[in-house]
Amino acid sequence: MRLRNDPKAEEKLAEHPTVVVQEPENYKGKWKTIFKNDNPIHIEIGTGKGGFVTGMAKQNPDINYIGIERFTTIVVKAMNNIVDADISNAKLLNVNAVNILQYFEEGEVDRVYLNFSDPWPKDRHARRRLTYKDFLDNYKQIMKKNGEIHFKTDNQALFEFSLESFSKYGMLLKNISLDLHKSDIEGNVMTEYERKFSEEGMRIYRCEAQFIS
Ligand code: SAM
Repeated sequence: MRLRNDPKAEEKLAEHPTVVVQEPENYKGKWKTIFKNDNPIHIEIGTGKGGFVTGMAKQNPDINYIGIERFTTIVVKAMNNIVDADISNAKLLNVNAVNILQYFEEGEVDRVYLNFSDPWPKDRHARRRLTYKDFLDNYKQIMKKNGEIHFKTDNQALFEFSLESFSKYGMLLKNISLDLHKSDIEGNVMTEYERKFSEEGMRIYRCEAQFIS
């Protein structure tokens, strides 16, 4: 995602500590205390401008959402979305998902969303794809038994790679769509990238992958 660097981004995030959680490593195993309830926790990795977590949180008030985004300037956009929506069940972490085990305890997360993840098209960068085996190891660790990853992308090569990665990992693949907007799925909340690509006439791929052991 290209965005001009905002030199005041850190300051802006600090103005809304109830939305952008500061020192998130302190909440490992304690996310329920942040939300002040026992509702399930769904995380989105690579949240971008936050349209998805905001829309999902509005649609599902009994689920807690945490958006993870590594670029501070982009987190400011997501924060403004959540502040404007005036919701308490969506929070943001300005961290790199590579370090996700620092922030969540085993079994603390109910679902992971990956939306329009960076494709890293070169073979030598395959390990950086958010559906690479090493990332799946980490997601499995922080998720409850039988947890699901819900994945959307416009990128056919990344989709194929991810289906293979989920499958090799022994995950159960469900609700695969090769053209999401022509399927009859209900309640789809569009991300910023999804809106842009679908307006350009590109098809959107989607699948759900469940850990089964
Ligand atoms: N999900 C949004 C959407 O669909 O509109 C944004 C998609 S954008 C292509 C990918 C986003 O993931 C970027 O904002 C990028 O900074 C973020 N990202 C990529 N790798 C990440 C990582 N390891 N940890 C946190 N964020 C990451």
